[in-house]
Amino acid sequence: MRVSEVGGVSVPVDHLIGGKWVGSAETFESRSPLDWDAEPLALVARGDQATADAAVLAAQEGFSVWSAWTAAQRSEVMHKLADLIEEHNEDIAIVESLDMGFMYESMKERLVARGATNFRLYADLIVAHEERRWDAKNMHNVVQYMPAGPAVVITPWNAPFMLSTWKLAPALAAGNSVIHKPAEWSPLTAALLAELTLEAGFPPGAYNLVQGIGEEVGAALVANPGVRRITFTGSPATARHIGKAAAENIVPFTAELGGKGPLIVFADSDLEKAAHRAAWQFDDSGQVCLAGTRLLVEESVKDEFMEIFNRHADALVLGDSREDSTDLGPLVHPDHRANVHGFVERAAAAGDKIIRGGHPVEGSLHYEPTLIEPASNDSEVVQSEIFGPVLTIQTFADEAEAIALANSTEYGLSAMIWTGSKDRAERVGRALRTGLVWVNTFLVRDLTAPFGGVGISGIGREGGEHALEFHSDLKTLMVLDDSVT
Ligand code: NAD
Repeated sequence: MRVSEVGGVSVPVDHLIGGKWVGSAETFESRSPLDWDAEPLALVARGDQATADAAVLAAQEGFSVWSAWTAAQRSEVMHKLADLIEEHNEDIAIVESLDMGFMYESMKERLVARGATNFRLYADLIVAHEERRWDAKNMHNVVQYMPAGPAVVITPWNAPFMLSTWKLAPALAAGNSVIHKPAEWSPLTAALLAELTLEAGFPPGAYNLVQGIGEEVGAALVANPGVRRITFTGSPATARHIGKAAAENIVPFTAELGGKGPLIVFADSDLEKAAHRAAWQFDDSGQVCLAGTRLLVEESVKDEFMEIFNRHADALVLGDSREDSTDLGPLVHPDHRANVHGFVERAAAAGDKIIRGGHPVEGSLHYEPTLIEPASNDSEVVQSEIFGPVLTIQTFADEAEAIALANSTEYGLSAMIWTGSKDRAERVGRALRTGLVWVNTFLVRDLTAPFGGVGISGIGREGGEHALEFHSDLKTLMVLDDSVT
């Protein structure tokens, strides 16, 4: 097994296939956004068609063993994996911080723990899961959840560790073997997770990791007819490719895609809290699918809102993601920063007003927290996901206009409403075309609730039982009453 030392942590840089570390002739570089011009953090195996085929074969063999384990046996190994994630919290946090630029403190305090929780939740759900049994039409009916087969799990570069555990845990709990293909811009914590599955005691082939480029090994994996489920988080553009491959093989597919969430502030809200939360939509330098990037503020309170927003935005400290004093780290990659800046330049050229920020920071991959007042609701910066620290601000006169603006993009992942009125919260919340709506709060969510998007924000629902159902083939067994003893 080849390893690289990353922040004092030994990270495997090969694929894990059938319980063994396997290399590739080609590699790709993983560089740190904290110091882009330094030596690469690692040269990671660059999988190809043969790697994908070998991984699917191993996953088919792994499936025959893992799917035959009882729910209690699977649960025990998944709890063990959660224990190991907690034990390796600091290692995972430092590697992700270097690999993706994620805030170290936030990883350590929140996201690694959440990764462990994702495995615990499904370890508990699978043993608590009861088959539905009922009598009707002179029949005794039973619904069986059959494990579906090998599942390909494709994940994005933002919050890679946590997002991967969220998708891997339900697939494994349901009895499917998995092939995880993490993003090439932040591949390293997936390797730490794969290593921990060996220690936790997953049987060979139940858990496979394939590294490489999306258009190469990712495309080969999703096109393989041996795959029985595909679950993807990433951009709508990639989802369109994967959806075609899934259709070709008639394989169920879920897609958690981009967002362009509205953050709606009514005059009757606690403005201090609303504007503070709005300024913190720059968190993680805007590389958050759920972020409320379109600020929609009731006209009558705009000036007061802006005063509070500016106070909090002015206080944000850009710096090294490993330092406690830093609020915002760099963007993940120079190409991504160029994309983000392209949106801002086109906005300025089209007549949108850049009212704060608008520039890359010299000498690092940071981007200034940017606020834009668009010339119209059709502006590109209002309608397209930017995935950087760029927010827009628009005003509305009444509730109807707020709802119309909120629902005016092709996206529909999440929304935030800030109001002091319980009736308005429910009324406006129900009128929004999104998968999630938070009122006077953000991000906190019961993990058994459905999660997913509307429109080009996604297909299918994850979370709790919803993901278990996706990863299972449901069978109805019907026995004629009094025909058996
Ligand atoms: P991306 O679509 O470029 O890549 C995602 C993954 O797909 C990567 O692992 C990549 O290697 C792989 N891939 C690329 N082309 C492929 C192909 N042809 N076949 C198979 N796999 C392929 O997305 P990204 O830039 O890594 O992530 C950012 C996007 O993800 C944003 O749009 C963001 O909003 C979205 N996202 C959504 C959620 C959610 O839960 N809804 C969460 C996080 C990120």
